[in-house]
Amino acid sequence: MSTPGRLGWLGGTFDPIHDGHLDVARAAHRALTLDEVHLVPARVPPHRAAPQASAEHRLAMVTLAAAQHDWLRVSTLDLHADGPAYTTDTLDRLAACGVDLRTLHVITGADAFAGILTWRRATELLDRCHFVVVSRPGHPAPALRRALPGLASRMIDTNGCVPPAQPSIFLVDAPTAPVSSTEVRARAAAGHSLEGLVPPTVATYIGQHELYRGVA
Ligand code: ATP
Ligand code: MG
Repeated sequence: MSTPGRLGWLGGTFDPIHDGHLDVARAAHRALTLDEVHLVPARVPPHRAAPQASAEHRLAMVTLAAAQHDWLRVSTLDLHADGPAYTTDTLDRLAACGVDLRTLHVITGADAFAGILTWRRATELLDRCHFVVVSRPGHPAPALRRALPGLASRMIDTNGCVPPAQPSIFLVDAPTAPVSSTEVRARAAAGHSLEGLVPPTVATYIGQHELYRGVA
């Protein structure tokens, strides 16, 4: 894989990708001056139920969404794994591909990061690469200092300061669209418009392939 100087890595189920995901990617890209952000759909996500759309459909929709920006890329690294896409295994795969993990910025929403201590090998994980945590409506990133006091000393507000070299947790308190894939699936199941929730190309794809019909 190509290895840009400062790499952002946004994993997810993307069932389907929506405007909130793209806002997260954009906020991290801007705040940390990343060269590229890779969108990384998981075949089998950890800690949750199986996706409703196939890996192929989810990848196709992520690819349509990524085509909007030259700094956005798609990685299939976690689609080849049979088991759950644990981040620790993903880092091993990236290192094996020649990626310098010190340049890696794993991006999450603040709701997902709140559960970081339950992630496999969490302590080791936080020492291997940077994390960028973006606020999600109802989940402000700065509140993580109180929710995760043991990690508060590693948390840094991004406001144009030069990031330190040691693995850190950057908090990005930027607005993102109040959308979830759950809401998109429910609206698609009910036959409602997806305008303003997902990119137009993704809405067209969902309609053409009749995804999420009758599964709300
Ligand atoms: P679902 O409703 O199926 O759980 P989701 O919308 O939460 O889907 P995921 O694929 O679970 O999307 O999320 C991937 C990552 O994107 C997670 O780190 C999550 O916190 C983040 N994320 C998703 N939507 C938003 C949003 N609107 N604002 C900020 N972060 C978000
Ligand atoms: Mg989610």
